[in-house]
Amino acid sequence: MAGRIDKIQLNMRDLSSSLKRQGRTRRAGTQAGQIQQRSFGEKPPKQLDISRDPKLMQLFSERGLVGWLEEKIKRSSKHPGKIVPAEDITAMAMPNIPGKQEGNLVYLGVDFALKNQTNPDKLAGVLSHEWGHLISDFLSGLDATDLDWGQIHSLRREEESYADAYAGRLLYLIGHKPDGLIEHLREHTCGENAKYFNLDTRIEIILRAYQAQAAQQQLAAKIFARQGERHALGSRLIAEA
Ligand SMILES: [Zn+2]
Repeated sequence: MAGRIDKIQLNMRDLSSSLKRQGRTRRAGTQAGQIQQRSFGEKPPKQLDISRDPKLMQLFSERGLVGWLEEKIKRSSKHPGKIVPAEDITAMAMPNIPGKQEGNLVYLGVDFALKNQTNPDKLAGVLSHEWGHLISDFLSGLDATDLDWGQIHSLRREEESYADAYAGRLLYLIGHKPDGLIEHLREHTCGENAKYFNLDTRIEIILRAYQAQAAQQQLAAKIFARQGERHALGSRLIAEA
């Protein structure tokens, strides 16, 4: 298993470009008799109107937990995006695909958000994973009808492991433990879906990415300290570009 994880690069930029290349070369002709309805994403849910619900309004506002997490995620990722309330889901990302899909949204299920108000690490973890999908664009130019199911599942697994690695790094930057995301994965046995790697592999990816980011920040802090520079808000703000 270690060998497989080593192949999954944990550096976000390198990972993203290597997946893009791989995506382009993995096309294949459509075989007769295959199911035609194939796509990479699920249909986006509808944004829920929460204007008459004071509890949810507070939760999603700048002073509430969701708004607070959104601000931190936007600042550390340097990626614009918005978290919007939705029904009947945990969370789902809708990336912006120029000319195809207006997006840059993360839908967050209101029941899930309410249930985990006292578990900021878990909300932060799930949102960071979805944010990884907003950043990743390697599936956007692909036509799924050219691919067979095996190829689609393989690409989805790469996409999901990218989002997991991204979440690990982002969680460190925004000051949340990866334990909440791992707890969520354990509870939902996501690992048994063909679209994901197994649970142990996903956990390993998240933890390694988190540790890689921690090591990088500590190194940066050391260099700054050696140069006699101090930042009032600490080394965590020396975020990766
Ligand atoms: Zn995902």
